Amino acid sequence: MRPDILNPLFAEISLFKGIGPALARPLERLGLRRAVDVAFHLPVSWVDRHLTGELDMADAGRVIGIELTPVDYKASGSARAPFRVHAVDRYGNHVALVYFGKNSGWPRKLLPLNEPKFISGKLEAYGDTLQIVHPDVLPPEEAHTLPARESVYGLSEGLTNNRMRDLVGQALGRAPDLPEWIEPSLLARKDWPTWREALGRVHADPADAVARARLAYDEIFAGQLALMLVRQSSRRRRGVRIEGDGRLRAMLKLPFAPTGAQRRAIGEIEGDMAQATPMLRLLQGDVGSGKTLVALMALLNAVEAGKQGAMLAPTEILARQHYETLRKMASGLAVEIAILTGRDKGKAREATLMGLADGSIDILVGTHAIFQEAVQYKALGLAVIDEQHRFGVAQRMMLANKASQAPHLLVMTATPIPRTLTLTYYGEMDVSRLDEMPPGRQPIQTLVMAASRLDEVVDALARHVEGGGQAYWVCPLVEESETSDQAAAEMRAESLRARFGARVGLVHGRMKGPDKDAAMEAFAANRTQILVATTVIEVGVDVPNSSLIIIEGADRFGLAQLHQLRGRVGRGDKPSTCLLLRGNALGETSRARLALMRETNDGFRIAEADLELRGAGEVLGTRQSGEAALKLATPEHVAALVDSARDDAHLLIERDGGLDSVRGQAARTCLYLFEKDAAVGLLRGG
Ligand code: ADP
Ligand code: MG
Repeated sequence: MRPDILNPLFAEISLFKGIGPALARPLERLGLRRAVDVAFHLPVSWVDRHLTGELDMADAGRVIGIELTPVDYKASGSARAPFRVHAVDRYGNHVALVYFGKNSGWPRKLLPLNEPKFISGKLEAYGDTLQIVHPDVLPPEEAHTLPARESVYGLSEGLTNNRMRDLVGQALGRAPDLPEWIEPSLLARKDWPTWREALGRVHADPADAVARARLAYDEIFAGQLALMLVRQSSRRRRGVRIEGDGRLRAMLKLPFAPTGAQRRAIGEIEGDMAQATPMLRLLQGDVGSGKTLVALMALLNAVEAGKQGAMLAPTEILARQHYETLRKMASGLAVEIAILTGRDKGKAREATLMGLADGSIDILVGTHAIFQEAVQYKALGLAVIDEQHRFGVAQRMMLANKASQAPHLLVMTATPIPRTLTLTYYGEMDVSRLDEMPPGRQPIQTLVMAASRLDEVVDALARHVEGGGQAYWVCPLVEESETSDQAAAEMRAESLRARFGARVGLVHGRMKGPDKDAAMEAFAANRTQILVATTVIEVGVDVPNSSLIIIEGADRFGLAQLHQLRGRVGRGDKPSTCLLLRGNALGETSRARLALMRETNDGFRIAEADLELRGAGEVLGTRQSGEAALKLATPEHVAALVDSARDDAHLLIERDGGLDSVRGQAARTCLYLFEKDAAVGLLRGG
């Protein structure tokens, strides 16, 4: 349970002063629901108040502080025009203080005529006149109480910066002194203030890098600690030692020799599986680096030892594809491979469940369905999760708890993640990297074209198809809703069918499973030559004959995502082309991003750049999975602080695995503050 000391922070902001229904929506849009949300809504920039005695000396566009005397009121003619208070500086220069809204009583009361006031706000030129909209007003003798630096917050329509500052003030008023969780020597070395002081300092002065770093550290530390608790709880469970005798693997007939990287990863996995503590390993490898073979070797290792293996894919399409691939690779071996997805119902499903329970099925491939309650394994020894970035820590935890004996866990991701992000999001796992591509890959040429040249693109597509090739046509992300993605894809398919007829297939995320599979199968079997798709084809789909991919609205995708999409081609024996269609008015960042895509095919480089340009959520694809991104720490903070946070969390757990000591208790508070409740829950009984 969350400690009482945090309760004021987790109170709803509807309890704040001055929060009416009109503010509810704008606040909700910003995700501000509780005091803690507001407290962590850190300023994005600041303005320095220019203190002056004379309007003539002030620049329009700047926030100024000045003593003014109201001399006249100008009530609005129409209901929508603002109420104006005319004021003068001590040299008689004029400025209008502008109030929107019908009620003129309030400005009249605030600014009685001929009484000097200290006024602060943004000076604007409006036609020939100067004006300040909704200024701060103080008695002149209190002018010094106004900070010289004003924080600027991220806002949504209906919220003003002043309003936000007021809410932040109320949230800070609720912030308690918290026990210190940071290791004392680190705290001293960094000269960091206490948590509460740091929070106050950052809101008062967004340029306060020291205080800012402390808050970032807290968040990173909570994340690291939570992952360590996951690791600790998983490794405390008894696993099964698995050492296959190699008889199945020896019979595999592969048309190629494994790369050095594949051999290394397989060795690391075998080493882990031979231990009684369950494996927690992340296999990172760019698109096409050959993760499937590594997974198969691990699965066969389990089967040889009389255990079962399960392989989890994020989508139906991928599950089916893995199923086919594994069966093909393992054909001729005495291994029973089955598939289970949410679509399998009735008799077939019953048969699969029976086979799993009695052990006649050795390897199960499927979607989430394979870890549901009803699915009982006779002896699950290994779980492989493909395309991890769609799953969060919570799902990993659920998985680890599925069997009475903890299965070994291998997580595979095709998103090459920069090291600091790997630590941040997969810090509980050991890492194997496939940093070597299988030989003989055909190059992919990447071109960027304006979408206005669509006709040329379609002509090029026609030539490609006439020449016996196949192509993907990926439709842009329209907003963030699947429905509109679907509409875009359907429209594109329709317009292409006008020219290419039945050669055009369509697949999108909202299609029914069987229809989706049928469309994929038709394309894989070359019955259709053009596959119009939304990003459902993003991960893993493998049709080697397809050597052209056209990506519409390329500037709207994350770089890592573009890289994934591009990885759909370049799989066969022909050189491939990736056409990135961009909008006509591109910003500088978009331009730079697309240029990078043209320049390199190195997934790790692209991921680093994506991290810099768009942030962690984009690289990880966490927006889709809903896993919370970091709120306080920037990528720079993560890069600078994750190692010490990790060491610190590690040391703490090593000394005090139950978090019972005084510092351990403080660390619990930190975990709750960042809503790692589930991780604290792992301590119980542990
Ligand atoms: P990933 O899942 O990592 O994107 P895959 O496992 O689908 O990659 O492998 C991509 C392609 O490379 C497959 O067609 C596979 O058969 C092939 N492949 C895998 N390992 C090798 C290797 N060592 N040498 C040559 N081809 C390989
Ligand atoms: Mg794959």
